[in-house]
Amino acid sequence: MPDFKQSTKLHNVLYDIRGPLLEHAQRMEAEGQRILKLNIGNPAPFGFEAPDAILVDMMRNLPHAQGYSDSRGIFSARTAVSQYYQTRGIQTIGVDDVYLGNGVSELITLSLNALLNNGDEVLIPAPDYPLWTASVSLTGGTPVHYLNTEEEGWLPDLEDMEAKITARTKGIVIINPNNPTGAVYPKETLEGILELARKHQLIVFSDEIYEKILYDDAVHINTASLADDVLVLTFSGLSKAYRVCGFRAGWMAISGPKHLAHDYIEGINLLTNMRLCANVPGQHAIQTALGGYQSINDLILPGGRLKEQRDIAYKMLNEIPGVSVQQAKGAMYLFPKLDREVYPIHDDAAFALELLKAQKMLITQGTAFNWVAPDHFRLVTLPAVRDLEDAIGRIAEFLEDLREG
Ligand code: PLP
Repeated sequence: MPDFKQSTKLHNVLYDIRGPLLEHAQRMEAEGQRILKLNIGNPAPFGFEAPDAILVDMMRNLPHAQGYSDSRGIFSARTAVSQYYQTRGIQTIGVDDVYLGNGVSELITLSLNALLNNGDEVLIPAPDYPLWTASVSLTGGTPVHYLNTEEEGWLPDLEDMEAKITARTKGIVIINPNNPTGAVYPKETLEGILELARKHQLIVFSDEIYEKILYDDAVHINTASLADDVLVLTFSGLSKAYRVCGFRAGWMAISGPKHLAHDYIEGINLLTNMRLCANVPGQHAIQTALGGYQSINDLILPGGRLKEQRDIAYKMLNEIPGVSVQQAKGAMYLFPKLDREVYPIHDDAAFALELLKAQKMLITQGTAFNWVAPDHFRLVTLPAVRDLEDAIGRIAEFLEDLREG
């Protein structure tokens, strides 16, 4: 009998946000159980809707979106992205420096595939959004994780970052605002990272998909706006702030000394051509989204749903004995810590599975985000207040049983 095996290229590739735990939850649902899912940052199932203008525009353009587009994407959307960055102080992004993709996800893998040889290293935050680590591993590269300091609002530890730079390091990944921690990086942090990139001739990959989801007095600075002498690839898209994950509309914009990266950019162009083009109806939504009324503000300002949910989740989690969490300044997640003296957990995936079985609720274990110890978990702050209170109540009950057991 043949034994059809997966490629060995996948041996180090992990993407546990949609891993075995979710499969277990889906089996429970198939048996008729109702599971509260706080595991995926997908606004639509929680009752968030896209701005009407985007939907109308997409529907009106549908007849014109039947064919393939230019591989990099339709001109009007790429122009809108380039103009958007120009208004944000990035002068070096022209229309041809913008690539549209099936979400940021596709462009993450594409940009790394075009760059890395086996064994090349990329610095990635710990904790991270794990697609970055998975994609580096898939290309044959080596992900090297730099630490973020929880006590300092999860800001990157620049000393740790520099200490991990070797002759094989090709780039630094920044996720700002951060998934899973909600950190938003101040100017000095970004300048420190850019200085390292400058000194060691590295490319900066700046994932800014949550740039418009900010709370309180947080201000987002586009990394590329701080340096035109460092090659920066900026990633963003419509999935989160415009609540249309399903449209698969993302982009990547290259800025800085592109003349030093002719060969790399040719590689990016080749891979862009090979995947033909991104979902064309989704591309048509981009110009309207960027130009129109930014309805995300109604959700994040005082009285807004996202802010209210974040505040309640933060308060309730911190009230649980042995649990502490930093407040998120951006994005839509919290990354609480479990005190290991109170909860001596050795395997946080097993912990999450037990929580799922006992309380019918799904979170994601911290090690799925390449965190260094089994003492954190991530939950999304998307559910309406009542569901969120219910969910965190169940976590509290489960932890109480753990303490007493
Ligand atoms: N980058 C980060 C930090 C994310 O959290 C996500 C999705 O959760 C993505 C990229 C992928 O987004 P997209 O829907 O554009 O593929």
